[in-house]
Amino acid sequence: MNVADSEVVGGILSSHGFSMTGDAAEADIVLVNTCAIRENAETRIYGRLGLFSTYKRRNPGLLIGVLGCMAERLRSDLLEDDLVDLVVGPDEYRKLPGLVEKAFSGEKGIAVRLSRVENYDDITPVRTDGVCAWLSVMRGCDKFCTFCVVPFTRGRERSRALESIIREIRDLSLRGFREITLLGQNVNSFRDGSHDFADLMREAASVDRSMRIRFTTSHPQDMSERLIEAIAGEINICKYIHLPVQSGSDRILELMNRTYTVDHYRRLIDRIRRSIPGVALSTDIISGFPSESEADHRRTVDLIKELRFDGAFTFKYSPREQTKAWDMADDVPENEKGQRVWEITELQHSIALEQNRAQIGATVRVLVEGPSRKSPHEYTGRTDTNKTVVFPHTDEEPGDLSDVRIDRANSATLFGVRTGDVVRGSSQSLTETAA
Ligand code: SAH
Ligand code: SF4
Repeated sequence: MNVADSEVVGGILSSHGFSMTGDAAEADIVLVNTCAIRENAETRIYGRLGLFSTYKRRNPGLLIGVLGCMAERLRSDLLEDDLVDLVVGPDEYRKLPGLVEKAFSGEKGIAVRLSRVENYDDITPVRTDGVCAWLSVMRGCDKFCTFCVVPFTRGRERSRALESIIREIRDLSLRGFREITLLGQNVNSFRDGSHDFADLMREAASVDRSMRIRFTTSHPQDMSERLIEAIAGEINICKYIHLPVQSGSDRILELMNRTYTVDHYRRLIDRIRRSIPGVALSTDIISGFPSESEADHRRTVDLIKELRFDGAFTFKYSPREQTKAWDMADDVPENEKGQRVWEITELQHSIALEQNRAQIGATVRVLVEGPSRKSPHEYTGRTDTNKTVVFPHTDEEPGDLSDVRIDRANSATLFGVRTGDVVRGSSQSLTETAA
Protein backbone atom coordinates (compact mmCIF):
# COMPACT_ATOMS: atom_id res chain seq x y z
CA MET A 1 0.00 0.00 0.00
CA ASN A 2 2.84 2.37 0.74
CA VAL A 3 4.48 1.64 -2.60
CA ALA A 4 1.18 2.56 -4.26
CA ASP A 5 0.87 5.69 -2.12
CA SER A 6 4.42 6.72 -2.97
CA GLU A 7 3.53 6.40 -6.65
CA VAL A 8 0.59 8.76 -6.04
CA VAL A 9 2.96 11.21 -4.32
CA GLY A 10 5.26 10.86 -7.34
CA GLY A 11 2.28 11.72 -9.58
CA ILE A 12 1.44 14.85 -7.57
CA LEU A 13 5.03 16.09 -7.40
CA SER A 14 5.92 15.32 -11.01
CA SER A 15 2.97 17.41 -12.23
CA HIS A 16 4.61 20.29 -10.33
CA GLY A 17 7.94 19.90 -12.07
CA PHE A 18 9.73 17.63 -9.62
CA SER A 19 11.40 14.46 -10.79
CA MET A 20 12.71 11.31 -9.16
CA THR A 21 16.38 10.49 -8.74
CA GLY A 22 17.65 6.96 -8.28
CA ASP A 23 20.32 8.19 -5.89
CA ALA A 24 19.14 9.53 -2.51
CA ALA A 25 22.56 11.13 -1.93
CA GLU A 26 21.98 13.58 -4.79
CA ALA A 27 18.36 14.44 -3.92
CA ASP A 28 17.12 17.90 -2.90
CA ILE A 29 14.18 16.34 -1.09
CA VAL A 30 13.91 12.95 0.56
CA LEU A 31 10.42 11.79 1.45
CA VAL A 32 9.99 8.63 3.46
CA ASN A 33 6.61 6.92 3.42
CA THR A 34 5.94 5.23 6.74
CA CYS A 35 3.93 2.49 8.41
CA ALA A 36 2.67 2.57 12.00
CA ILE A 37 1.04 -0.84 12.22
CA ARG A 38 3.51 -2.22 14.79
CA GLU A 39 6.13 -0.57 16.91
CA ASN A 40 8.99 -2.20 15.01
CA ALA A 41 7.75 -0.66 11.74
CA GLU A 42 8.33 2.72 13.37
CA THR A 43 11.67 1.70 14.83
CA ARG A 44 12.89 0.91 11.34
CA ILE A 45 11.89 4.37 10.16
CA TYR A 46 13.94 5.98 12.92
CA GLY A 47 16.88 3.91 11.69
CA ARG A 48 16.29 5.17 8.15
CA LEU A 49 16.10 8.80 9.34
CA GLY A 50 19.53 8.28 10.90
CA LEU A 51 20.85 7.41 7.45
CA PHE A 52 19.26 10.53 5.92
CA SER A 53 21.00 12.69 8.54
CA THR A 54 24.33 11.80 6.89
CA TYR A 55 22.99 13.15 3.57
CA LYS A 56 21.84 16.30 5.32
CA ARG A 57 25.26 16.84 6.87
CA ARG A 58 26.74 16.75 3.38
CA ASN A 59 23.99 18.89 1.89
CA PRO A 60 22.50 21.22 4.56
CA GLY A 61 19.84 22.44 2.09
CA LEU A 62 18.33 18.96 1.82
CA LEU A 63 14.65 18.69 2.83
CA ILE A 64 13.46 15.64 4.69
CA GLY A 65 9.79 14.76 4.93
CA VAL A 66 7.98 12.00 6.81
CA LEU A 67 4.79 10.86 5.06
CA GLY A 68 2.12 8.31 5.81
CA CYS A 69 0.80 6.63 8.93
CA MET A 70 3.64 7.50 11.28
CA ALA A 71 3.31 11.17 10.26
CA GLU A 72 -0.40 10.96 11.00
CA ARG A 73 0.17 9.33 14.38
CA LEU A 74 3.09 11.36 15.72
CA ARG A 75 2.31 14.70 14.04
CA SER A 76 4.24 17.67 15.37
CA ASP A 77 6.35 15.44 17.64
CA LEU A 78 8.25 14.50 14.50
CA LEU A 79 9.03 18.14 13.73
CA GLU A 80 10.85 18.52 17.03
CA ASP A 81 13.68 16.62 15.40
CA ASP A 82 15.88 19.16 13.57
CA LEU A 83 16.26 16.66 10.78
CA VAL A 84 12.59 16.65 9.76
CA ASP A 85 11.21 19.53 7.65
CA LEU A 86 7.84 18.13 6.58
CA VAL A 87 5.20 15.90 8.16
CA VAL A 88 2.34 14.89 5.86
CA GLY A 89 -0.41 12.36 6.58
CA PRO A 90 -1.98 9.95 4.04
CA ASP A 91 -4.86 12.25 3.05
CA GLU A 92 -2.85 15.46 2.53
CA TYR A 93 -0.46 14.61 -0.29
CA ARG A 94 -1.98 17.24 -2.58
CA LYS A 95 -0.49 19.87 -0.28
CA LEU A 96 3.03 18.57 -0.79
CA PRO A 97 4.14 20.87 -3.67
CA GLY A 98 3.16 23.98 -1.67
CA LEU A 99 4.69 22.68 1.54
CA VAL A 100 7.92 21.80 -0.24
CA GLU A 101 8.19 25.32 -1.72
CA LYS A 102 7.75 26.86 1.73
CA ALA A 103 10.18 24.43 3.31
CA PHE A 104 12.84 25.52 0.80
CA SER A 105 12.51 28.99 2.26
CA GLY A 106 12.98 27.64 5.77
CA GLU A 107 9.41 27.10 6.95
CA LYS A 108 8.76 23.64 8.37
CA GLY A 109 5.42 22.20 7.24
CA ILE A 110 2.79 19.90 8.65
CA ALA A 111 -0.48 18.61 7.15
CA VAL A 112 -2.20 15.73 8.91
CA ARG A 113 -5.93 16.23 8.48
CA LEU A 114 -7.83 13.06 7.58
CA SER A 115 -10.50 13.27 4.93
CA ARG A 116 -13.76 11.43 4.34
CA VAL A 117 -13.55 11.85 0.58
CA GLU A 118 -9.93 12.03 -0.59
CA ASN A 119 -9.18 9.00 -2.79
CA TYR A 120 -6.73 10.52 -5.29
CA ASP A 121 -9.04 9.28 -8.03
CA ASP A 122 -7.79 11.85 -10.55
CA ILE A 123 -4.06 11.46 -9.83
CA THR A 124 -2.02 9.36 -12.24
CA PRO A 125 0.55 7.51 -10.14
CA VAL A 126 4.13 7.54 -11.43
CA ARG A 127 5.01 3.89 -11.98
CA THR A 128 8.20 2.42 -13.34
CA ASP A 129 7.42 0.17 -16.31
CA GLY A 130 7.39 -3.46 -15.32
CA VAL A 131 5.37 -6.64 -15.06
CA CYS A 132 3.28 -6.07 -11.92
CA ALA A 133 1.46 -2.93 -10.82
CA TRP A 134 -0.29 -1.94 -7.59
CA LEU A 135 -3.57 -0.11 -7.83
CA SER A 136 -5.35 1.41 -4.83
CA VAL A 137 -9.12 1.10 -5.13
CA MET A 138 -10.20 2.16 -1.66
CA ARG A 139 -8.69 3.87 1.36
CA GLY A 140 -9.15 3.76 5.12
CA CYS A 141 -11.00 1.28 7.29
CA ASP A 142 -14.19 1.32 9.36
CA LYS A 143 -13.77 -2.03 11.08
CA PHE A 144 -12.02 -0.86 14.24
CA CYS A 145 -10.40 -4.13 15.24
CA THR A 146 -9.33 -3.35 18.79
CA PHE A 147 -5.59 -3.88 18.14
CA CYS A 148 -5.36 -1.84 14.96
CA VAL A 149 -4.21 1.72 14.41
CA VAL A 150 -5.28 1.88 10.73
CA PRO A 151 -8.69 3.54 11.30
CA PHE A 152 -6.84 6.29 13.21
CA THR A 153 -3.96 6.80 10.80
CA ARG A 154 -5.80 6.31 7.51
CA GLY A 155 -9.27 7.42 8.47
CA ARG A 156 -12.73 6.38 7.27
CA GLU A 157 -13.38 3.96 4.46
CA ARG A 158 -13.90 5.42 0.98
CA SER A 159 -13.80 3.90 -2.49
CA ARG A 160 -12.78 5.22 -5.86
CA ALA A 161 -15.22 5.20 -8.77
CA LEU A 162 -15.26 1.94 -10.73
CA GLU A 163 -15.00 3.77 -14.06
CA SER A 164 -11.79 5.54 -13.12
CA ILE A 165 -10.23 2.29 -11.86
CA ILE A 166 -11.12 0.55 -15.12
CA ARG A 167 -9.62 3.42 -17.11
CA GLU A 168 -6.40 3.07 -15.14
CA ILE A 169 -6.32 -0.69 -15.75
CA ARG A 170 -6.78 -0.09 -19.48
CA ASP A 171 -3.78 2.27 -19.46
CA LEU A 172 -1.69 -0.25 -17.54
CA SER A 173 -2.59 -2.94 -20.05
CA LEU A 174 -1.53 -0.68 -22.94
CA ARG A 175 1.73 0.04 -21.15
CA GLY A 176 2.44 -3.68 -21.02
CA PHE A 177 1.81 -4.53 -17.37
CA ARG A 178 0.88 -8.20 -17.01
CA GLU A 179 -0.47 -8.33 -13.48
CA ILE A 180 -2.41 -5.86 -11.35
CA THR A 181 -3.06 -6.09 -7.63
CA LEU A 182 -6.10 -4.17 -6.45
CA LEU A 183 -5.33 -2.72 -3.05
CA GLY A 184 -7.19 -1.60 0.02
CA GLN A 185 -6.95 -2.04 3.78
CA ASN A 186 -10.20 -3.90 3.39
CA VAL A 187 -10.35 -4.18 -0.32
CA ASN A 188 -13.41 -6.42 -0.44
CA SER A 189 -15.59 -3.83 1.28
CA PHE A 190 -15.12 -1.67 -1.85
CA ARG A 191 -18.40 0.04 -2.74
CA ASP A 192 -18.74 2.93 -5.17
CA GLY A 193 -22.48 3.48 -4.88
CA SER A 194 -23.75 1.08 -7.50
CA HIS A 195 -20.96 -1.55 -7.55
CA ASP A 196 -19.45 -3.89 -5.00
CA PHE A 197 -16.04 -5.56 -5.05
CA ALA A 198 -17.29 -8.58 -7.01
CA ASP A 199 -18.49 -6.21 -9.77
CA LEU A 200 -15.15 -4.43 -9.76
CA MET A 201 -13.19 -7.70 -10.00
CA ARG A 202 -15.27 -8.93 -12.93
CA GLU A 203 -14.92 -5.63 -14.79
CA ALA A 204 -11.21 -5.45 -14.03
CA ALA A 205 -10.70 -8.98 -15.33
CA SER A 206 -12.56 -8.24 -18.57
CA VAL A 207 -10.27 -5.34 -19.57
CA ASP A 208 -7.49 -7.61 -20.83
CA ARG A 209 -7.83 -11.36 -20.46
CA SER A 210 -4.08 -11.82 -20.81
CA MET A 211 -3.49 -9.74 -17.70
CA ARG A 212 -3.71 -11.26 -14.24
CA ILE A 213 -5.80 -9.62 -11.51
CA ARG A 214 -5.07 -10.06 -7.79
CA PHE A 215 -6.31 -8.28 -4.69
CA THR A 216 -5.24 -7.72 -1.13
CA THR A 217 -6.16 -7.64 1.70
CA SER A 218 -9.60 -8.95 2.45
CA HIS A 219 -11.64 -9.22 5.62
CA PRO A 220 -13.60 -12.44 6.25
CA GLN A 221 -16.78 -10.46 6.93
CA ASP A 222 -16.83 -9.03 3.40
CA MET A 223 -15.91 -12.25 1.59
CA SER A 224 -19.24 -12.53 -0.21
CA GLU A 225 -20.57 -15.46 -2.19
CA ARG A 226 -20.61 -13.22 -5.27
CA LEU A 227 -16.93 -12.47 -4.83
CA ILE A 228 -16.07 -16.15 -4.48
CA GLU A 229 -18.04 -16.83 -7.67
CA ALA A 230 -16.20 -14.04 -9.49
CA ILE A 231 -12.80 -15.46 -8.50
CA ALA A 232 -13.90 -18.95 -9.50
CA GLY A 233 -15.47 -17.84 -12.78
CA GLU A 234 -12.98 -15.42 -14.32
CA ILE A 235 -9.99 -17.12 -15.86
CA ASN A 236 -7.55 -14.28 -15.22
CA ILE A 237 -8.45 -13.62 -11.57
CA CYS A 238 -5.72 -15.33 -9.59
CA LYS A 239 -6.74 -18.29 -7.49
CA TYR A 240 -5.14 -16.93 -4.38
CA ILE A 241 -6.78 -15.29 -1.37
CA HIS A 242 -5.11 -13.66 1.61
CA LEU A 243 -7.68 -13.85 4.38
CA PRO A 244 -6.42 -12.86 7.83
CA VAL A 245 -7.93 -14.89 10.68
CA GLN A 246 -5.79 -13.38 13.51
CA SER A 247 -6.63 -16.05 16.10
CA GLY A 248 -8.11 -19.52 16.50
CA SER A 249 -9.87 -18.63 19.75
CA ASP A 250 -13.43 -17.26 19.74
CA ARG A 251 -12.79 -15.45 23.01
CA ILE A 252 -9.81 -13.59 21.51
CA LEU A 253 -11.63 -12.90 18.22
CA GLU A 254 -14.42 -11.30 20.22
CA LEU A 255 -11.95 -9.18 22.20
CA MET A 256 -10.37 -8.18 18.89
CA ASN A 257 -13.78 -7.15 17.50
CA ARG A 258 -13.19 -9.29 14.41
CA THR A 259 -16.96 -9.88 13.97
CA TYR A 260 -16.67 -13.60 13.11
CA THR A 261 -16.17 -16.85 14.99
CA VAL A 262 -13.67 -19.58 14.22
CA ASP A 263 -16.49 -21.72 12.94
CA HIS A 264 -17.72 -19.01 10.59
CA TYR A 265 -14.17 -18.63 9.26
CA ARG A 266 -13.77 -22.41 8.89
CA ARG A 267 -16.99 -22.67 6.88
CA LEU A 268 -15.89 -19.76 4.73
CA ILE A 269 -12.61 -21.50 3.90
CA ASP A 270 -14.52 -24.66 3.13
CA ARG A 271 -16.86 -22.80 0.73
CA ILE A 272 -13.90 -21.11 -0.97
CA ARG A 273 -12.08 -24.41 -1.45
CA ARG A 274 -15.14 -26.12 -2.84
CA SER A 275 -15.92 -23.27 -5.26
CA ILE A 276 -12.35 -22.55 -6.43
CA PRO A 277 -10.46 -25.81 -7.03
CA GLY A 278 -6.73 -25.48 -6.43
CA VAL A 279 -7.08 -22.12 -4.65
CA ALA A 280 -4.18 -21.06 -2.42
CA LEU A 281 -4.91 -19.37 0.88
CA SER A 282 -2.81 -17.38 3.28
CA THR A 283 -3.53 -15.65 6.56
CA ASP A 284 -2.30 -13.30 9.28
CA ILE A 285 -2.00 -14.25 12.95
CA ILE A 286 -1.38 -12.07 15.99
CA SER A 287 0.25 -13.85 18.93
CA GLY A 288 0.08 -12.56 22.47
CA PHE A 289 -3.00 -10.36 22.26
CA PRO A 290 -3.99 -9.18 25.79
CA SER A 291 -5.11 -12.09 27.98
CA GLU A 292 -4.25 -14.75 25.33
CA SER A 293 -3.73 -17.92 27.35
CA GLU A 294 -1.80 -21.02 26.44
CA ALA A 295 -5.18 -22.66 25.69
CA ASP A 296 -6.11 -19.82 23.28
CA HIS A 297 -2.75 -20.19 21.58
CA ARG A 298 -3.28 -23.96 21.22
CA ARG A 299 -6.59 -23.24 19.48
CA THR A 300 -4.71 -21.11 16.94
CA VAL A 301 -2.12 -23.84 16.43
CA ASP A 302 -4.88 -26.43 15.97
CA LEU A 303 -6.69 -24.23 13.45
CA ILE A 304 -3.52 -23.84 11.40
CA LYS A 305 -3.01 -27.60 11.43
CA GLU A 306 -6.60 -28.11 10.38
CA LEU A 307 -6.84 -25.48 7.62
CA ARG A 308 -3.36 -25.95 6.20
CA PHE A 309 -2.79 -22.50 4.71
CA ASP A 310 -0.26 -22.02 1.93
CA GLY A 311 1.25 -19.17 3.93
CA ALA A 312 0.83 -17.35 7.24
CA PHE A 313 2.29 -14.08 8.47
CA THR A 314 2.56 -14.18 12.25
CA PHE A 315 3.14 -11.08 14.36
CA LYS A 316 3.79 -10.41 18.03
CA TYR A 317 1.00 -8.25 19.38
CA SER A 318 2.21 -4.66 19.55
CA PRO A 319 0.10 -2.21 21.62
CA ARG A 320 -0.87 0.89 19.63
CA GLU A 321 -2.00 4.14 21.24
CA GLN A 322 -5.61 5.22 20.55
CA THR A 323 -6.82 1.65 19.97
CA LYS A 324 -9.21 -0.09 22.37
CA ALA A 325 -6.68 -2.80 23.15
CA TRP A 326 -4.24 -0.10 24.31
CA ASP A 327 -6.36 0.06 27.48
CA MET A 328 -6.16 -3.71 28.00
CA ALA A 329 -3.20 -5.06 29.95
CA ASP A 330 -0.42 -6.16 27.57
CA ASP A 331 0.00 -9.16 29.84
CA VAL A 332 1.60 -11.84 27.67
CA PRO A 333 5.33 -11.60 28.42
CA GLU A 334 7.53 -10.66 25.48
CA ASN A 335 9.42 -13.98 25.50
CA GLU A 336 6.12 -15.89 25.55
CA LYS A 337 4.87 -13.89 22.54
CA GLY A 338 8.15 -14.72 20.80
CA GLN A 339 7.78 -18.41 21.66
CA ARG A 340 4.22 -18.51 20.28
CA VAL A 341 5.20 -16.72 17.06
CA TRP A 342 8.10 -19.15 16.67
CA GLU A 343 5.89 -22.21 17.17
CA ILE A 344 3.33 -21.01 14.62
CA THR A 345 6.02 -20.00 12.12
CA GLU A 346 7.74 -23.40 12.40
CA LEU A 347 4.44 -25.23 12.02
CA GLN A 348 3.49 -23.15 8.99
CA HIS A 349 6.90 -23.75 7.42
CA SER A 350 6.48 -27.48 7.70
CA ILE A 351 2.99 -27.30 6.17
CA ALA A 352 4.21 -25.06 3.31
CA LEU A 353 7.14 -27.42 2.74
CA GLU A 354 4.81 -30.41 2.42
CA GLN A 355 2.52 -28.49 0.09
CA ASN A 356 5.41 -27.29 -2.05
CA ARG A 357 6.98 -30.75 -2.21
CA ALA A 358 3.66 -32.11 -3.42
CA GLN A 359 4.24 -29.96 -6.52
CA ILE A 360 7.42 -31.85 -7.47
CA GLY A 361 6.87 -33.45 -10.87
CA ALA A 362 4.05 -31.06 -11.76
CA THR A 363 4.30 -28.41 -14.47
CA VAL A 364 3.17 -24.96 -13.40
CA ARG A 365 2.56 -21.82 -15.42
CA VAL A 366 4.68 -18.90 -14.28
CA LEU A 367 4.46 -15.20 -15.05
CA VAL A 368 8.13 -14.29 -15.44
CA GLU A 369 9.20 -11.27 -13.40
CA GLY A 370 12.98 -11.16 -14.02
CA PRO A 371 16.32 -12.29 -12.60
CA SER A 372 16.19 -14.00 -9.21
CA ARG A 373 17.76 -12.26 -6.23
CA LYS A 374 20.52 -14.84 -6.02
CA SER A 375 21.76 -15.22 -9.57
CA PRO A 376 21.45 -13.44 -12.93
CA HIS A 377 21.43 -16.87 -14.58
CA GLU A 378 18.19 -17.76 -12.84
CA TYR A 379 14.83 -16.14 -13.41
CA THR A 380 11.91 -15.93 -11.06
CA GLY A 381 8.18 -15.54 -11.35
CA ARG A 382 4.98 -16.51 -9.64
CA THR A 383 2.19 -18.95 -10.31
CA ASP A 384 -1.43 -17.92 -10.36
CA THR A 385 -1.54 -19.23 -6.76
CA ASN A 386 1.26 -16.83 -5.80
CA LYS A 387 4.01 -19.43 -5.38
CA THR A 388 7.47 -18.17 -6.23
CA VAL A 389 9.22 -20.30 -8.86
CA VAL A 390 12.94 -20.13 -9.76
CA PHE A 391 14.37 -21.69 -12.95
CA PRO A 392 17.50 -21.43 -15.14
CA HIS A 393 17.24 -18.51 -17.56
CA THR A 394 17.31 -19.19 -21.29
CA ASP A 395 15.37 -16.82 -23.55
CA GLU A 396 12.55 -15.70 -21.23
CA GLU A 397 11.80 -12.03 -20.84
CA PRO A 398 9.95 -10.34 -17.99
CA GLY A 399 6.23 -10.58 -18.72
CA ASP A 400 6.40 -13.95 -20.50
CA LEU A 401 4.43 -16.95 -19.39
CA SER A 402 6.56 -20.06 -18.97
CA ASP A 403 5.73 -23.61 -18.06
CA VAL A 404 8.14 -24.91 -15.47
CA ARG A 405 8.44 -28.52 -14.36
CA ILE A 406 9.10 -28.53 -10.63
CA ASP A 407 11.94 -30.75 -9.45
CA ARG A 408 12.78 -29.30 -6.03
CA ALA A 409 11.08 -27.21 -3.33
CA ASN A 410 11.62 -25.57 0.01
CA SER A 411 8.97 -23.94 2.19
CA ALA A 412 9.17 -20.63 0.31
CA THR A 413 10.13 -21.46 -3.27
CA LEU A 414 9.61 -24.00 -6.05
CA PHE A 415 12.56 -24.78 -8.36
CA GLY A 416 12.41 -26.38 -11.79
CA VAL A 417 13.19 -26.21 -15.50
CA ARG A 418 11.19 -24.74 -18.33
CA THR A 419 9.30 -27.07 -20.64
CA GLY A 420 8.11 -25.92 -24.05
CA ASP A 421 8.13 -22.42 -25.50
CA VAL A 422 7.36 -19.24 -23.66
CA VAL A 423 4.02 -17.57 -24.26
CA ARG A 424 4.25 -13.90 -25.04
CA GLY A 425 1.12 -11.87 -24.22
CA SER A 426 -1.49 -14.33 -25.43
CA SER A 427 -4.89 -14.58 -23.79
CA GLN A 428 -6.54 -17.69 -22.33
CA SER A 429 -3.10 -18.94 -21.36
CA LEU A 430 -2.65 -17.55 -17.91
CA THR A 431 -3.36 -20.65 -15.93
CA GLU A 432 -3.61 -23.61 -18.29
CA THR A 433 -0.33 -25.44 -18.22
CA ALA A 434 0.87 -27.57 -21.08
CA ALA A 435 0.99 -30.76 -19.02
N1 SAH B 1 -7.08 -5.07 6.94
C1 SAH B 1 -6.42 -6.28 7.11
C2 SAH B 1 -5.13 -6.16 7.89
C3 SAH B 1 -4.23 -5.01 7.68
S1 SAH B 1 -2.93 -4.87 8.84
C4 SAH B 1 -7.34 -7.25 7.83
O1 SAH B 1 -8.11 -6.86 8.67
O2 SAH B 1 -7.31 -8.42 7.60
C5 SAH B 1 -1.95 -6.29 8.47
C6 SAH B 1 -1.79 -7.23 9.62
O3 SAH B 1 -1.00 -6.64 10.65
C7 SAH B 1 -3.08 -7.63 10.33
O4 SAH B 1 -3.75 -8.64 9.66
C8 SAH B 1 -2.58 -8.09 11.68
O5 SAH B 1 -2.28 -9.46 11.69
C9 SAH B 1 -1.29 -7.27 11.87
N2 SAH B 1 -1.47 -6.26 12.91
C10 SAH B 1 -2.27 -5.17 12.87
N3 SAH B 1 -2.18 -4.48 14.03
C11 SAH B 1 -1.30 -5.15 14.81
C12 SAH B 1 -0.80 -4.95 16.13
N4 SAH B 1 -1.20 -3.93 16.87
N5 SAH B 1 0.11 -5.84 16.62
C13 SAH B 1 0.50 -6.90 15.87
N6 SAH B 1 0.06 -7.14 14.63
C14 SAH B 1 -0.84 -6.29 14.10
FE1 SF4 C 1 -7.06 -2.90 10.95
FE2 SF4 C 1 -7.77 -4.65 9.09
FE3 SF4 C 1 -9.16 -4.47 11.34
FE4 SF4 C 1 -9.27 -2.50 9.55
S1 SF4 C 1 -10.01 -4.61 9.31
S2 SF4 C 1 -9.08 -2.27 11.76
S3 SF4 C 1 -7.17 -2.51 8.78
S4 SF4 C 1 -7.02 -5.13 11.10
